[in-house]
Amino acid sequence: MNAQEKELDYPLGEHLPTKGGMTEVAPGVFWLRMFLPFALDHINLWLLRDHYEGREGWAIVDCCLDQASAREQWQHLFNHALEGLPVLRVIVTHLHPDHLGLAHWLCDYWKAPLWISATDFHTAHTLIHPSNPQHSAQAVDFLRAHGVTQADVLEAVTQRHLQFSHMVPDLPNQFVRLFDGMSLRIGSHHWRCISGHGHAPEHIALYCDALNVLISGDMVLPRISTNISVYDSEPLANPLQLFLDSLTKFANLPADCLCLPSHGKPFKGLHTRIAQLRQHHTDRLNELRTACAHQAQSALDAMGVLFKRTLDSHQTTFALGESLAHLHFLWYRGELERINAEVIRFKPTEAISLH
Ligand SMILES: [Zn+2]
Repeated sequence: MNAQEKELDYPLGEHLPTKGGMTEVAPGVFWLRMFLPFALDHINLWLLRDHYEGREGWAIVDCCLDQASAREQWQHLFNHALEGLPVLRVIVTHLHPDHLGLAHWLCDYWKAPLWISATDFHTAHTLIHPSNPQHSAQAVDFLRAHGVTQADVLEAVTQRHLQFSHMVPDLPNQFVRLFDGMSLRIGSHHWRCISGHGHAPEHIALYCDALNVLISGDMVLPRISTNISVYDSEPLANPLQLFLDSLTKFANLPADCLCLPSHGKPFKGLHTRIAQLRQHHTDRLNELRTACAHQAQSALDAMGVLFKRTLDSHQTTFALGESLAHLHFLWYRGELERINAEVIRFKPTEAISLH
């Protein structure tokens, strides 16, 4: 446990749900955990007791990516853990494969509707059709423009488009739209949708006032900071500003609410964690301010400043997007100028460097 985690409270201690089972974390709210084949090796999923359209059953929140072990784990739960009741709806916080991948299978298996934001539904539909070769070329050009020359990294970003459709091979063609402020009645409780931006196009977290429980998805994680990246599809994006603005909505929730994050363990200390995340980004921005004052920085240069450890080619594509997100934040604030040459670099704006 790192120093920052010690400031948070983990009410369930070291407990983790068993592979075949689930743990009740609040009345009618159950936690399950599935394996992911990445450095981030697990995802938390939630099952809520539901009563919908006159039937008793369950609502699922997030699905895991489409892989054999996840299907087996779901099947085991269906056979042994759901009191013989059906899944009535599949709710997905955002389009990333570990959350959305198996939605097509779960919705089909239970003939249950998918509930998701419109932005993420439609974006996911464009991402599962990676056949357009221009798209890969665009991703490579984007990395080159930000200073990347290593062949393995350029190859990795080409693969990334194909990987999405590998982990999310199919999607339902219909959905129920979730949007900010919407109230969902799940079982005997109301859950309020809270949209968040910067990590995914339109991430939806759920807060239940009566239970004082927040399903925070990837917007507030206890141990790691949420990935905030600029991607080639929106090369001038300012996702860090969007993310920090979104955190303000979570800061308005009660400080003692139980947070159910997609990665890590359920925790209390939402306001502390939000302050830590803000400080994390402030520190990173200050490091870049110093580096840019010394010498104009490309996103690749900035990555060397922000990420001290060695990164493999896939991690590099994400770290580069994250570094660019921090540069863009300072650029949109008017602190940096964007010099558009063969490699894009950022330097302090004249007005500020004269001080
Ligand atoms: Zn995510």
